[in-house]
Amino acid sequence: MLRTLDDVGDVGGRRVFLRADFNVPLAGATVADDARIQATLPTIRELRDRGASLVLASHLGRPKGETVDELRLAPVGERLGELLGEPVHALTEVTPDALPESAVVLLENLRFDPGEEADDQAFAGRLAELADAYVDDAFGAAHRSHASVAALPELMLASGRPAVAGRLMQREVDVLSRLAHDPQRPYVAILGGAKVSDKLSVIEALIDRVDALLVGGAMAFTLIAADGGEVAESLCERDRFEDVRRAKDRARERGVLLEVPQDVVAAAEVSLQAERRTVPAAAIPRGLMGLDIGPKTVEEYARIVADAKTILWNGPMGVFELEPFSAGTRGVATAVAHADAFSVVGGGDSLLAVRKAGLADAFDHLSTGGGASLEFLEGRTLPGIAILEEGP
Ligand code: ADP
Ligand code: MG
Repeated sequence: MLRTLDDVGDVGGRRVFLRADFNVPLAGATVADDARIQATLPTIRELRDRGASLVLASHLGRPKGETVDELRLAPVGERLGELLGEPVHALTEVTPDALPESAVVLLENLRFDPGEEADDQAFAGRLAELADAYVDDAFGAAHRSHASVAALPELMLASGRPAVAGRLMQREVDVLSRLAHDPQRPYVAILGGAKVSDKLSVIEALIDRVDALLVGGAMAFTLIAADGGEVAESLCERDRFEDVRRAKDRARERGVLLEVPQDVVAAAEVSLQAERRTVPAAAIPRGLMGLDIGPKTVEEYARIVADAKTILWNGPMGVFELEPFSAGTRGVATAVAHADAFSVVGGGDSLLAVRKAGLADAFDHLSTGGGASLEFLEGRTLPGIAILEEGP
């Protein structure tokens, strides 16, 4: 059982260390998309309402243990302050010797210190000195053994201080556990995105759990080519043929419907001006690459999705960033939104696509953790979650 804010005890007048996931896209000195900040507001508000003062901490980007001015958290502090309606004191230090009096303090980017990614005890010890209790809402970082999500809560617990999950973490674990252990059937998963190698282990794990797996995006071409299809210039990982054949065999054995696109929208280059043709996915003309699923495939996937009771979607169906190749992703998003099913979407680009299509409200859950949600669904133990669980 996950320990939550219900188990943290009286935090009135105490300082709570809140590990959040503020790994947001920046545009210069402003936050380009504040969805991740919004997602953790319920936890922040609840702790403030209960009288706690807060030390907030997050990573941002990949500064690799060094200070990188472009990756400072100040823009996050500013945006968070606006959303909260109270000042957020953003520090320029990761582990200050003393904290300012302010009620809401934001530490500097944790990854400026090499101790964070190294899960360093001494670094975690310095963080532990800053607070009386620990709350983790950074689901997106739960699959990493990093100091702020692994060594730190361990130290807190070892010294008799509480370490619990925030409301966002709690919701993520609830929803994804339901998908992993007790999905209503039919359970349909839709996988897309760029690389089959990124998602091979999740494909394998999903085959053991779902009733149908619908594949789109560039990763479909590796499956199609492994069966002898002609994918021309499409992205294709030939060194993964063995793996995808094994996955297909497993799907056949288990009676899982594993679908690849019948038709695709192809072009000679990834550009807005490129001339487009809808062609069979397994017979793409020379010189062209598949950049979106075609209309027949959208129709077929929509038909399968319409009967589902549980839907998991990760990875766009095409190069949705460019309007000419976005119809497949939008079509599938619309079908999922209209299905009478429990629907979950995960993955940074997929979330962006869903929001772009104005369909975010139609999903039951938008998972904030890309890699973390996939690892969770594979049934792996996530270090940042295990430490927040009770008992053996
Ligand atoms: P997510 O972030 O949702 O997990 P991924 O990062 O795995 O998704 O994949 C998203 C990327 O895949 C997008 O940038 C998209 O343009 C790209 N993509 C999807 N389909 C294709 C395709 N057919 N050819 C090239 N790139 C593709
Ligand atoms: Mg992505």
